[in-house]
Formats: sequence, structure tokens, C-alpha cells
Amino acid sequence: MAFEGLTERLQKAMRNLRGKGKVSEADLRSTMREIRLALLEADVNFTVVRNFVKRVQTRSKGAEVLEGLNPAQQIVKIVDEELTKTMGEEAVPLNKSEKIPTVIMMAGLQGAGKTTTAGKLALKLKNENNARPLLIAADVYRPAAIDQLVTVGDQIDVPVFQQGTDVDPVEIVKNGMQQAKENHNDYVLIDTAGRLQIDEKLMDELKNIKSLVHPDEILLVVDAMTGQNAVNTAEGFNDALDITGVVLTKLDGDTRGGAALSIREVTKKPIKFIGQGEKMDALDVFHPDRMASRILG
Ligand code: GDP
Repeated sequence: MAFEGLTERLQKAMRNLRGKGKVSEADLRSTMREIRLALLEADVNFTVVRNFVKRVQTRSKGAEVLEGLNPAQQIVKIVDEELTKTMGEEAVPLNKSEKIPTVIMMAGLQGAGKTTTAGKLALKLKNENNARPLLIAADVYRPAAIDQLVTVGDQIDVPVFQQGTDVDPVEIVKNGMQQAKENHNDYVLIDTAGRLQIDEKLMDELKNIKSLVHPDEILLVVDAMTGQNAVNTAEGFNDALDITGVVLTKLDGDTRGGAALSIREVTKKPIKFIGQGEKMDALDVFHPDRMASRILG
């Protein structure tokens, strides 16, 4: 289960507070220390933790909280609100072009879940928006990646444009866009190549695709299980590509919480979706308030 350790520790920190009729500044300080350690242990970015704790402390230590009715309950509410704020406050919808097709470029490191997420998103658009998406297979370095996307396309009944592995990815995208125009597809999802790590060649290729199609959305797919590495990856891709949003995958696994809580504040880019399983329907819109409730348990 995701966030298990974090939830347990936060609940414990709050429980200590609840046991007290009155909360003193010293009680508050020790609770905040526990919360800080819980977040750091969950692999949340250090600066994000510091800012979060500072905000909760400032809001909580006022007389209206500590000397008011039910201080413990008020502090729990503040923690909940500030967790929500850290993750971006509101759900941010997918960008949509005024003119079809809306172009969504998927980026990410190998294994993050990019191809799976491209399929999940195409299915979501088809089911919820009555869309007619086209998937473009532009990961030419891993032949299996193209086969995988074709299999996904068959499974969800969405066409896949592919030209094998011998054509330049930028050329493939150009030809795929042409097909989308001819067939009046309203969404195009481009599955780009991933690498084991960020390198210049990967970024140059993504930049070239970006300048060719001017995507309405550049979604970076990151694996929540990789914690701070997911955050570093997001920073790297954002610096190079100016991404428009993040998809956090594998939140059904045993992840600690660091990526979910850090990405928004570090990159200033919204998490738009979360992947919660391997099946094609396991993609959900990211709601910061619901995630905060889930973390608090
Ligand atoms: P890519 O290399 O980034 O295209 O990654 P893939 O789409 O091939 O995904 C890598 C692995 O992660 C596959 O086995 C997927 O089934 C799995 N995967 C992707 N998203 C999720 C998710 O949200 N939850 C779980 N449990 N597995 C996922």
C-alpha cells in the first residue's frame, strides 16, 4: 500500500496531540518535529519539508488555535490543508487545443510507465470525451516498445501509427500528424523514447519533436516508487522541455510519498494524473485534496 509508513507516523504524531486537553507551544514543537521526520523518512524533498513545517507551525501557534476549542482538531485540519497546498490545491485539467488535434507528447525515463500511460490516457479520452485518438509510436530504439504500443492499441481499440525502427522519430511524428489530419483524429498522443537516464541525445530528440508539433501538453511520466529520483527527473525534463504536467505512476505499489509531495513545489508543474495499476483503466485525475486525505489516512 502506498504511503503506509507516512500515514502511520503522521497519525501517531497527531494522536499524541489529541490526547491532550490543551496544546502548549512545546507540544506543538514536538509534534512538528515528528511530522518533519516522518516526511523526510518518506523521501520528501528537504526544502518542501521545511516550507511545509514552517507554514503549519505559523498557522498553528496563534492563540486562536492553541487556546481555542479543540486545538488538536484544528491542527489536523491545518496539516491537511497545507498538504493539499503543497500538492497544488486544485486538480488541473488536460490542455485542449481550439483546433483539432490536441497534441499530447509523452516523455519519461524507460520503465516509468510511459507507453502504458499513453494507452490509458487514450482510453480515458475515448471513454470520457468520446474522443478519436491516434497513438504515434516514436520510440525507435527499443523495437519492443513499438510492439507494446501496438498491443495496447489493439486492446483499447485505438489506432497506432508506426513506421518501425528505421525511420527518424521526428519524421515518424510528422507523418503521424499528417495521418491524424487526414483521419480527423481529435487527439494525438506521441509515445517518445525513454532512456535509463537523462542524456543530451534524448533531450535533443524530444526538443526536435516539440518544435515540430508544438504540443498542447507535454506530460512527463515518472515512477512514484523512485522517490527523490522522480523529483530530480522531473526537474531535468522540465528544464529542458518546459513540461506542462506530470503523471505519477505506480501509486498502487509500496511507495513512500516523496514524489507525490515534492514534485509540484519543486517543478511548479501540476501532477495531472496518477497511475494506480497495470490495467488500462487504472489512470485517475490527480486531486491534491483527496491525496492529502489519503496520506493522512
Ligand atoms: P515505459 O518504458 O516508460 O514505456 O514503461 P512501460 O509503459 O513499459 O511500463 C513499465 C512497467 O510498469 C510495465 O510492466 C507496466 O505494466 C508497469 N506500470 C506502468 N504504470 C503502472 C502503474 O500505475 N502501476 C503499476 N503497478 N505498474 C505500472
